Amino acid sequence: MAGGGVEAVGELGVRVWGRVWGRGVYLLGEPLPLMGHIAFGVIDRGTNVLQVRPTTLCPLSCVFCSVDAGPRSRWRRSEYLVEPGWLASWVEAAAREKGVAVEALIDGVGDPFTYPWLPRLVRLLKETGVVSSVAAETHGETLTVELVRRLEEAGLDRVNLSIETLDPEKARRLAATPWYDVERVRRVAEFIARETSIDLHVTPVWLPGVNDEDVVEIVEWAYRIGAGKRWPPVTVQKYIAHRRGRRPPGVREPGWDEFWRWLRELERRTGRRLTWSMEEWGMRRAPRVRQRLRRGERVKVQVVAPGWLRGEWLVRVLGVDRVATLVSAPWARPGMLVPARVTGDKDEIYIVKPA
Ligand code: SF4
Repeated sequence: MAGGGVEAVGELGVRVWGRVWGRGVYLLGEPLPLMGHIAFGVIDRGTNVLQVRPTTLCPLSCVFCSVDAGPRSRWRRSEYLVEPGWLASWVEAAAREKGVAVEALIDGVGDPFTYPWLPRLVRLLKETGVVSSVAAETHGETLTVELVRRLEEAGLDRVNLSIETLDPEKARRLAATPWYDVERVRRVAEFIARETSIDLHVTPVWLPGVNDEDVVEIVEWAYRIGAGKRWPPVTVQKYIAHRRGRRPPGVREPGWDEFWRWLRELERRTGRRLTWSMEEWGMRRAPRVRQRLRRGERVKVQVVAPGWLRGEWLVRVLGVDRVATLVSAPWARPGMLVPARVTGDKDEIYIVKPA
């Protein structure tokens, strides 16, 4: 029931795993539902790609991090890890309900390569028979040749590598991490592209005025090393200032028009393609998993653990196979039953408030 000074409801699939950076780390497993939350489990956005989120942990503290991850987080209250077998079974169930073969995109509000069971998760996903490809996102800090070999054996199809500069000093500053070694990341990325069957897709975030020339260098590098064996080699990401994300001082968020103009200019300057259609990604619209709850609906929830952000609780919705985030309930405690109303339901990511 309790451990490490923080409570969780063990019989509902939440166990205390430990503590890191002053926060509780919880292991989530059967019978806790794995849909309904932004920070873990499975997210269906109505295409043939399912987002699969096994961990919230990240060792870096990037100054532009949209999800405020890592040791220097100001908003996080807890971190989560999900049991790999339970997660794979939820991906399989979601894909079967959608009625299509899916790409499992392992991403999240942390770095999936910190997940201790990543090769096992990849293997289990492939074994479901309804997952046509598996991709995983990372900033590369925990990438090693040995891990890449194990992931190749497990059947990983693609690594999406986010890297904002190849300059070691600047990379350390942007990651706000003195030991971040971008040269090592670069060497392992080149190994992936040249020596394995895993595809490499490079995804730098453009921070206007900070890494304009670095992005040019990264585009050239990605093409040169052979990124993009089966999927596009590079996609530049737009920096978006999120309410609870980190904002680098002096960097403004570009508008979409400005972003597309800048990308087209970059394509002209480098002679490299940087924009891709959904088809080139193998992505298409697909039936959604049936939405279980609607905004405005009254529900009863049970608190199972502290939320991932301050002021939030992780709750199970009674009678519905979903979890949700309970807000505006500073008095709540694990185990408590709370009558609530659904206030957010987009993509089946549920926010509830006490009714
Ligand atoms: S941007 Fe990615 S690698 Fe950087 S702190 Fe956030 S989650 Fe971690």
